Amino acid sequence: LTTASAALEEPITPPVQVSYTKLLINGNFVDSASGKTFPTLDPRTGEVIAHVAEGDAEDIDRAVVAARKAFDEGPWPKMTAYERSRILNRFADLIEKHNDEIAALETWDNGKPYEQAALGEIPMVARLFRYYAGWADKIHGLIVPADTPHHVQVLHEPIGVAGQIIPWNFPLLMFSWKVGPALACGNTIVLKTAEQTPLSALFVAKLLHEAGLPEGVLNVVSGYGPTAGAALASHMDVDKLAFTGSTVTGKIVQQLASRSNLKPVTLELGGKSPMIIMDDADIDQAVELAHFALFFNQGQCCCAGSRTFVHESIYDEFVEKAKARALKRVVGDPFKKGVEQGPQIDEEQFNKILHFIKSGVDGGATLVSGGERYGDRGYFIKPTIFSDVKDGMEIAKEEIFGPVQSILKFKDLDEVIRRANASRYGLAAGVFTKSLDNANTLTRALRVGTVWINCFDVFDAAIPFGGYKMSGYGREKGFDSLKNYLQIKAVVTSLKNPAW
Ligand code: NAD
Repeated sequence: LTTASAALEEPITPPVQVSYTKLLINGNFVDSASGKTFPTLDPRTGEVIAHVAEGDAEDIDRAVVAARKAFDEGPWPKMTAYERSRILNRFADLIEKHNDEIAALETWDNGKPYEQAALGEIPMVARLFRYYAGWADKIHGLIVPADTPHHVQVLHEPIGVAGQIIPWNFPLLMFSWKVGPALACGNTIVLKTAEQTPLSALFVAKLLHEAGLPEGVLNVVSGYGPTAGAALASHMDVDKLAFTGSTVTGKIVQQLASRSNLKPVTLELGGKSPMIIMDDADIDQAVELAHFALFFNQGQCCCAGSRTFVHESIYDEFVEKAKARALKRVVGDPFKKGVEQGPQIDEEQFNKILHFIKSGVDGGATLVSGGERYGDRGYFIKPTIFSDVKDGMEIAKEEIFGPVQSILKFKDLDEVIRRANASRYGLAAGVFTKSLDNANTLTRALRVGTVWINCFDVFDAAIPFGGYKMSGYGREKGFDSLKNYLQIKAVVTSLKNPAW
């Protein structure tokens, strides 16, 4: 357990150049008003990739002015919905054309395996824009049969200028979940990227303009949360705010929104999702799925299956097999073929995860594998497993956001339902069983936004995603996401001859 791993090899040179580092405001790349920049780092080494323009309140204001003008004067909200859908489809074509370059930028800035980005995430981004391109000309209102002598219509209109704040764990997927539905509905946008990962959004925002997006419709401001993010959340001329990130910050942005102009907010926040393995499960498959549910994306998923509940009759065998799988996990340079796990995003997260590991050991859980850094530079952590984890331990309650699997033991269905629900979070859950009864009971009893049965982390543009409880509210993706970006207007017209 305590053997230090060998030093990492020389980092592979990323197969891409950084082309855009300025703020994108009103269709142009511009310096920040203050002239300040900040470094974005390569998590493999901690070295600087590029210096990026650092937006703050003044830049957010410039971006909101541009987005407001583009909304009020058009052409975007006034274009035919079909024209908007064509632009979104052309954008999807361009993402597909530049897939590998975009994936390389994402890996370089974030540290995720290149194969995961190139074969999974970036194609999903293109798929998402096609999905919302398909919705653009199918968003329509209603005529309702009210009990009055009037003709009653309900119009669905774009909400206006949308403010969007995204995190670093899936930079471009989070961009797509927010930008896709907002544009399909005819809104204009000011988007703030996470300070750890500003590069890929700037690259694709340029492609979106190549696809025909009018100037001012999408503005991208790189910068920090307490400055640029807070300015966006509290801006008086932003009509809606969508946020993904930590629960702590979610509370702050909601307060900023209500203290300013009461803009409606949707929040996609943290989680501590249960992964429940029943005694009838195929153990080898369950081990593999639970491993994936936790370790995918270096454990940096809001919906990570971070409480692995295993039935007592298979617990010991499960832990042994989970350990063998974790020891086989390929950690290394994310650009290298076959690597399953790259570095954590930054030093802050790296230290936070090591703190949680220490807290697991100090709290009395059994360290089964890992438990320390991997290599001697960058932010790599060995795949770590704790067994004998109890509900009250910090590692069982807090979102670790790293490659640390906590395995808990349970006796029966009622007990595991009660314990799985005893969390302030309610984002997702995994259920592994061959019994239809178990699956149905758990599905109904679990207070979470997504239940995966005999699978985990299955995402698609058409499947809504979001949380119960302190995991947030509102749904992204699917039809439900459109509701976040629409205003509803009732139109009541007096009828001269109500009989007709
Ligand atoms: P964070 O919530 O601080 O950051 C998310 C986004 O919010 C970033 O763009 C950030 O710049 C912005 N932000 C930060 N402070 C702000 C403020 N005062 N006003 C407006 N915007 C602000 O998250 P983080 O520090 O990057 O990560 C910390 C923890 O958040 C992680 O350990 C993890 O638990 C959680 N997290 C969750 C998700 C998710 O998808 N739900 C994603 C990333 C991180």
